[in-house]
Amino acid sequence: MKKTLLILIFLSCIVMANNLPELGDYSSSKISENEEIFIGRQILFQVNQSDSIIRDIEISDYLDLLGKRLINASTDPAKKIEFFIVNDSSINAFAMLGGVIGVHSGLFLASNTESELASVISHEIAHINQKHISRFLAQQERASYQSTFLMAVALLLARSNPQLASTTMAGASAGSVQGALDFTRENEKEADRVGIQTLNNAGFDVRGARDFFTTLKKANQFSGGAAPAFLQTHPITSNRISDIEDRLKDYPYKQRLGNQTFHYVKGKLKALLGDKSNTKNILEENIKNKIYINEAGERFALAYIYLMDNEFTKSQEQIQWLFDNEQSNPMLSQLYINYLIKTNKVTEAKKLYIQNLNFFPI
Ligand SMILES: [Zn+2]
Repeated sequence: MKKTLLILIFLSCIVMANNLPELGDYSSSKISENEEIFIGRQILFQVNQSDSIIRDIEISDYLDLLGKRLINASTDPAKKIEFFIVNDSSINAFAMLGGVIGVHSGLFLASNTESELASVISHEIAHINQKHISRFLAQQERASYQSTFLMAVALLLARSNPQLASTTMAGASAGSVQGALDFTRENEKEADRVGIQTLNNAGFDVRGARDFFTTLKKANQFSGGAAPAFLQTHPITSNRISDIEDRLKDYPYKQRLGNQTFHYVKGKLKALLGDKSNTKNILEENIKNKIYINEAGERFALAYIYLMDNEFTKSQEQIQWLFDNEQSNPMLSQLYINYLIKTNKVTEAKKLYIQNLNFFPI
């Protein structure tokens, strides 16, 4: 998340906290369910004002559906959890008080499979269901509702981007959050255990949990030693990795079909974020040299970029390849509709749109 925007969220939350009613002495009591919900809503309200949030409806819908599938398979299927996507290239996801989970665009792009992405989200859901954050906040001495609220917001900053948080929070009332940046080792172990169960119950490949750590390790090598944000907020030890390996032995290998929508979401993010002409060159080279994890995902991204650059023939070629080689998919149809609209074939676009409503009901 961009530095200034995070600071803005933090400052506007301080203003908001000053307007909160004094609700009495909570120092010895736990955080009530209602308090949690209230704080979660306030955080979402602030988050929604930020222009660092990716509001693309297809990408948000994908994350919501993935999240719901995991919540339904979790230890608390009735839990209400809200998701949002932060435009931040670092690899991270973070759970917040009040049932809020933020996912960085960098996590989508770094995940090689949907199961890897799902393993991180199920881990965050476990942190919420096991009440790791509210338990931490309940332990803090707090004279008022305001201090809890500010602490919750400071944690939002810290979990989203630890490097930034350490500078933003210097001198702020949230100084004590520094020590709370990390979940405890016990919390992490529990979130891994419960998260892997959820991953399996939801029908994903549990090996995604281990594969994600391999992905993190690689990212760590390329970042010149600066640990990915996820590692900074979820401390990982060799003990934790061997623990995960041991757990995976309990789950027999099952062949699972991949979800093409995951690769289209990644493709769309590639097209929308970063330097477009640089991304275009990379995608063209990757396809030419067959260097990719998912060819259709690369071609989908390229078709989007060509369309944005008004290179209609090239875009149409990629779309045609996708129709010839891949199964029907609402995101692919929507891409074609965008192409038809941009090339002034509005009647055809409308016809296809109505057809799609029958194929892919909302
Ligand atoms: Zn964790």
